[in-house]
Amino acid sequence: MDIVVLDGYTLNPGDLNWDGIKQFGNLTVYDRTDFSVDNIVNRIGSAEIIFTNKTPISKDVMIKVPSVKYIGVLATGYNIVDIKSAKELGKTVTNIPSYGTTAVAQFTFALLLELCHHIGDHSEAVKKGAWSKSPDFCFWNYPLIELSGKIMGLIGFGRIGQATAKIAQPFGLEVMVYDIHQNKELENENCKYVSLDVLFRGSDIISLHCPLLESTKEIINKNSIADMKDGVLIINTSRGPLINEIDLCNALNAGKVGGAAVDVVSVEPIKDDNPLLKANNCLITPHIAWAPKESRLRLMNIAVDNLRAFLKGESINVVC
Ligand code: NAD
Repeated sequence: MDIVVLDGYTLNPGDLNWDGIKQFGNLTVYDRTDFSVDNIVNRIGSAEIIFTNKTPISKDVMIKVPSVKYIGVLATGYNIVDIKSAKELGKTVTNIPSYGTTAVAQFTFALLLELCHHIGDHSEAVKKGAWSKSPDFCFWNYPLIELSGKIMGLIGFGRIGQATAKIAQPFGLEVMVYDIHQNKELENENCKYVSLDVLFRGSDIISLHCPLLESTKEIINKNSIADMKDGVLIINTSRGPLINEIDLCNALNAGKVGGAAVDVVSVEPIKDDNPLLKANNCLITPHIAWAPKESRLRLMNIAVDNLRAFLKGESINVVC
């Protein structure tokens, strides 16, 4: 049985191994695959099992590779597979839920703390001589922010939102959450469900943890920003299109938004003309919240479990 991984590099740039998947057949791993249909089809050949992280598996591709029975998505989000067509054509598609919950929640706080203290920037300034030349025993280049007593608004209160709320508590943050599905058992003295409107108006920090859907696309835009507190901090570790980047850029440059930190942008890799690249006080990281080795190893192990279960006829983590 032939197995093809179309874009394995980001999951395993060399610090993990593919042995778990190799045990099931003849494995070919491509680091990356150009997104043209012909190229994808050519690489899949007559494989029965394929894995993809971001390489799109369209209806066109599926029709041209009838040997494929199983499409393993090496990520939580499976929007790169045409699920409707996969269902019609009888392909099994699986994904990897929840491998990166703790890593993404931790990264949310890495971004927030960087916005509060600008440690990277201050360290660079010191190395460039700004401290040795300083007339005082200390200096700072940005307003420094204490979190205790501030209000953090989380949009989306699923796995990552809940893990983020737990980290927020020992910092003394009060947490407001908005989610279309409410589970009142998750509320406590410092963490309450509110309407989106109340969250926008009341938060000192807003962090996005909802999926990208038609209803959440550009949920951060000039109108929602106008409702927010002056100087609000905005964090996005979820999906880039949740934010209208031009509106956020304008609000950052006008000082309405005090700072933003995004791990995801509307088009990835980022385009040279993305407005956030030149916005005031905007930290941008290259979609790495999910990527600590511990988290990738968990992802790899779940991918192996998913394939093993499929081959036994007891599929798990099935999307369709
Ligand atoms: P989850 O499914 O556990 O939680 C998502 C929550 O969003 C759910 O509670 C759902 O009810 C809620 N939701 C759905 N529609 C909503 C709406 N219109 N408004 C408000 N809330 C809504 O997902 P998760 O594991 O917590 O992941 C959250 C997101 O994080 C994912 O969708 C993904 O985009 C992103 N993510 C990013 C990285 C990264 O590396 N940056 C890694 C993993 C996941």
